[in-house]
Amino acid sequence: MHLLDLKKDYHVHSNYNDHSPQDLSVERVTRYAETINLDTLAFTEHVRKTSDWIPKYLDDIDRIISLGTKMTIIAGFEAKILKDGTVDVPPEYEGHFLIASFHTKYYNKQDWLFSLKSAISLPYVNVIGHLAPEESFDLSDEELVELSQLLKSNNKTIEVNAKYRRPPMKWLQIFKENNINLHLGSDAHSLTEVGNFNSITSLIEYINN
Ligand SMILES: [Zn+2]
Ligand SMILES: [Zn+2]
Repeated sequence: MHLLDLKKDYHVHSNYNDHSPQDLSVERVTRYAETINLDTLAFTEHVRKTSDWIPKYLDDIDRIISLGTKMTIIAGFEAKILKDGTVDVPPEYEGHFLIASFHTKYYNKQDWLFSLKSAISLPYVNVIGHLAPEESFDLSDEELVELSQLLKSNNKTIEVNAKYRRPPMKWLQIFKENNINLHLGSDAHSLTEVGNFNSITSLIEYINN
């Protein structure tokens, strides 16, 4: 049984991406997270193979950790699941905490499933982010059970995401029945979204009760 811990936010962005406010610095996010009493904060900036800011980002997080904080701070990334079944992260950073997410539509269930299953099988992926079907397809209970087995045998975590309110309840039911590792991610792109899971209260209650 894996309960969702509201003091742990495993999906937070900062101003290293190109679409968050410039004042969303690693330091401000950390200080804010302390004021709301989080005990674990994972920075998971959007990364691509071509990203050139990664050393600076990691240095920035190291500097905050060295200043001292009671929280566990994780330096990680969120990367896109690609159609060839790989994930868009530079190989030299594959050892970091990594959320793999769908960021483009596939419009084709078999292609989507292929990419998802491949991503789950990659040893350097830790989490599947904001997982949900597309409008044009859904997974059957049988397919979700099969997916659960793959998640389990590869020791992967499914994120319960506050920004997109995903996965859908039906999927979570099957993940819960199959004892899949679950954790929370706010997917914060602004300060007040950090550690804020108010949008998914019903999903959290379902898992934790
Ligand atoms: Zn995402
Ligand atoms: Zn995100």
